[in-house]
This record gives sequence, C-alpha cells and structure tokens, in this order.
Amino acid sequence: MRPLTFTRVDTPEAAANAAKRYPGAAFIAGGTNLLDLMKLDVERPSTLIDINRLNLASITPTGDGGMRIGALVRNSDLAANRDIMRDYPVLSRALLSGASAQLRNKATTAGNLLQRTRCFYFYDTTKPCNKREPGSGCSALGGFNRIHAILGSSDACIAVHPSDMAVAMRALDAKVETIQYDGSTRTVPISELHTLPGTTPEVETSLHLGELITAVVLPPPLGGVQQYRKVRDRASYAFALVSVAAIVVRDADVIRHARLAFGRLAHKPWRNEEAENLLIGTDGGPAIRSQVADAVLADARGRGHNDFKIPLLRRTIEATLATAISG
Ligand code: SF4
Repeated sequence: MRPLTFTRVDTPEAAANAAKRYPGAAFIAGGTNLLDLMKLDVERPSTLIDINRLNLASITPTGDGGMRIGALVRNSDLAANRDIMRDYPVLSRALLSGASAQLRNKATTAGNLLQRTRCFYFYDTTKPCNKREPGSGCSALGGFNRIHAILGSSDACIAVHPSDMAVAMRALDAKVETIQYDGSTRTVPISELHTLPGTTPEVETSLHLGELITAVVLPPPLGGVQQYRKVRDRASYAFALVSVAAIVVRDADVIRHARLAFGRLAHKPWRNEEAENLLIGTDGGPAIRSQVADAVLADARGRGHNDFKIPLLRRTIEATLATAISG
C-alpha cells in the first residue's frame, strides 16, 4: 500500500496551485482511467486533487456562434446535448461509439483528452516500457503490436492515443483552454495539445506542470455531412483499430470544404490537410477518394502484427468519404 494524500479544491486556480505545491500530484474527476492505472501500480500519484467541485460542468454558446464545453462535462451529457447533436454531430457520434454508458456517465471532457494509451505493455509493470519507465525499452517493438501506430511513431514508442472524442474535436479544430498555477490562462489548439513520442514518449501533451484544462471551445459549426466511423474487433465496448471523422460541405456536386481526422493511427489524433485539400473543388468520386487514401498513408509503416491497419485504413477512408459525399 502506498501512502496517498487526498485534497479537494473549489476553484480552478486552487487546483492548478495545488498541483504545483504537491510534487507528483494528479487531478482526479471521473477517474475512469486513473484509478485503473493506480490499481495496476502504473500511476503512483503522491496526491489526488479532487476537482469534481469546480464549476466547469456546463455547455454554453460563445459570442461567435461556437460552443464552450466545460472540462467536467460528462461524456454522456456532451453526447446528448441538443446543440452538439444538431451542429456537431461528428462529436456526438464519436462519444457514443466510445466506452460503455456507465463509463460515459463518469468520464469527463478533459479526462477523455488526457487518458493514457492502452498499449498492453504500458499496463504490465513486469515488461520494459519507455513511456512508463523512460530508458527501459519498448516491448511492443518486438512484441505483439496489433493495436499500435502506423504513423508518427518512433523507435522509442509506437503507442496510439485511445480517444474517439479527441478525433472528432481534431476534425472540428477545437481549442483547449487552461489555467496555470499562477492564475494565468492560455488557449492551446487541439492540434498542439498531444505530442508525438520522439525520444520522450513519457511526455504526452504540451501542458505544463500543474496546468489544468478548464474547457474545450468549438468554433462555429461547419455544417455539411458529418460522419464518424469506428472499426473495431467487436461491435461495442472496444477501442478502435482505426477510426475516421469526416466533415464534407458540398455546393451542388462540388465539395467546398472537407475535414478528415483519424484515430488509433498515432500517438495523437491524426489529421492530414494535404489529403483534405485533394477533395476541394471535386465531386469526391472513387478516383479522388483513392488519392486521398494514398496521401494519408504515404508515410504509414506497419510493425508486423499491425500491418493490416494500412489496407484497413484505406478501405475505411474510402467508405467513410463515400457515405459523407452521398449525403
Ligand atoms: Fe511502452 Fe510505448 Fe512501447 Fe507501449 S509502445 S511498450 S507504451 S514505449
């Protein structure tokens, strides 16, 4: 049994300040990932800072027509919000495809963004893992790597980010609002929140020590047809093998705007603007869809067991786009 300090805070400022004061502290809200990691001795926080009392659980319109989602909004509440369902259906669909209803009732917006990888070896403390113990090695490189990355990985780590919600937010160009221990705030584009592993896979985000996510801001709705397609080993309660969030805005038969984001390919939700641009001004026919898949997969690299993800992703991109384009 490890000794642990538990403290509750009432304001975001107090939370960020407490995280700075207690080295090794962790914020806890829903705890749907953190508690599992603590039971397995993967996470060993010195202090748990309970942030459930913070006034960060509402969804409100922004002045420019977007939406601000409080960090403590539960995944089930976000998925069922009428404005989100109407204006950002890709987000609602991604949320409903993730986890069980019970988990969605507890899991929060910020916690979903910050959940840790589900790499088998990260959870097995008897195995080397550079993310858990920097410098110890990566067991997945020569091990069973069926669920691992095909883009953006390094020889230090080939883990993938597990979230569905974050993939939709990446397609929507969301921004993440934070507060730091000194009370200063900043806004981080979601494209810059998660990092690639490089030589420091233990670093997963661009957040500073003690920095607390307070909200996610969605820009004004794009409209168009929005799809979230998740391919997994079984129909429910499973993480994706690959996933695609697609937003296609058409004017008659011509595509005016397109967004594509991908899950379970890399250490962060993946986006490829070059591939999106191939669709603009076209009818998005089969030849164009094939070119889009080529562009997304140009740098893809399998590691053995996960080689199948490359043709699987190609088919998923082409099928998702075909559905989105047919409206
Ligand atoms: Fe650890 Fe990353 Fe290797 Fe998994 S892929 S064993 S998380 S270093």
